[in-house]
Amino acid sequence: MLSVHDALQITQTHLLDLPDEMVSLEEAVGRVLRQPLTADRDVPPFNRVTMDGIAFRYDAFAGGARQFRVLGAQFAGQAAGTLTDPTACMEVMTGAVLPLGTDTVVRYEDVQIEQGMATIQVDEVQPGQNIHPQGNDRPAGDVLLREGTLMRSVDVAVAASVGAAKVSVAALPRVAIIATGDELVGVDQTPAPHQIRHSNIYMIRAALRALGIRAMLHHLPDDREVLKIGLQNLLEQNDVFILSGGVSAGKADFVPATLTELGVQCHFHKVEQRPGKPLWFGTTEGDRQVVFGLPGNPVSTVMCTYKYVLPYLRAAMGQTAPQPVYAQLAEPFVFRPALTYFLPVRLHYAPDGRLLAHPLPGSGSGDFTNLTGADAFLELPADQTAFAEGEALPVVSAW
Ligand code: AMP
Ligand code: MG
Repeated sequence: MLSVHDALQITQTHLLDLPDEMVSLEEAVGRVLRQPLTADRDVPPFNRVTMDGIAFRYDAFAGGARQFRVLGAQFAGQAAGTLTDPTACMEVMTGAVLPLGTDTVVRYEDVQIEQGMATIQVDEVQPGQNIHPQGNDRPAGDVLLREGTLMRSVDVAVAASVGAAKVSVAALPRVAIIATGDELVGVDQTPAPHQIRHSNIYMIRAALRALGIRAMLHHLPDDREVLKIGLQNLLEQNDVFILSGGVSAGKADFVPATLTELGVQCHFHKVEQRPGKPLWFGTTEGDRQVVFGLPGNPVSTVMCTYKYVLPYLRAAMGQTAPQPVYAQLAEPFVFRPALTYFLPVRLHYAPDGRLLAHPLPGSGSGDFTNLTGADAFLELPADQTAFAEGEALPVVSAW
């Protein structure tokens, strides 16, 4: 059987080819940038005053001058004025261009102004103080946002500052989420004693919203023919298929055979992991469409969505892979089977800054209500049985 590592590798070699699209800044948040954004001017673009106060020449102050005649004011949004008299000063406001002929700013709090004369009240003045020099942060032409950036609100601000009213981002795939199973009924229905309400497809759809994807939900029965016709119709209209259920070894688990009949090539079926062992992955010709067959067990669905589906979609959109996160086990843990174990954990930062993972008790595959108390899974490698308190292990989550 395939290791978790190899399974992930295989998914990454069959990435969908998603085109670029231009979106407004309002729509850019949460999307993956497909172009570098460069500074169109120096940052800051002029010598910017950072304190309300007076501006003068430092030479005059160094020569002993403490009183300066006020020869006007420079406000934010005004073109740069000029101080013609080197023994005088100008009032300046935060955000204004530093007037030509001045090089130092003293804030109002340290100055007394009476009858047009400013008197500096402090002895300590550094040349160039309270000025943010032009180009100090970045020179014009510097790359401010790289291709592959997941746009957060601060990145939207940077895009706006360089005049990018629209940005090129990865187009979103069309995604179908499909529950299979005769035991499933709608959330608005009262289940008979032998039935359960859908939950997996709602979980997957909610997780995809973090990527900006709005997926459609579907339900197909455990009937070979109906399943085949239903999947065939959906295959004509979507790029990504996330199926829940029907991939195990049960007599009504028709998903793998049906997908093969429909021309979806299986790249793997079954991974050395718990939960989620029956995971199925395939693509259509040329990797034009991708299919994830997730085991129906709700905890498996959550784990496989975090570990496989979300990273796959992020990579297909071109997002630069985030740094892996590790946490230390807060108590020893034993897991004997030779499978990678995804242990539901609650995370918290210890006072010394360590990220600690507390195993949640009783978290079997079906016990998904327990997951509401979990922040993530801790990935325990297959070739190890006993895990010591303090051991650092990878964190798998929806982040
Ligand atoms: P299966 O993978 O089809 O063998 O299903 C495994 C278990 O997951 C069964 O107990 C199913 O009832 C349950 N299950 C399957 N699909 C869903 C779903 N969409 N929502 C909640 N539970 C499900
Ligand atoms: Mg089923």
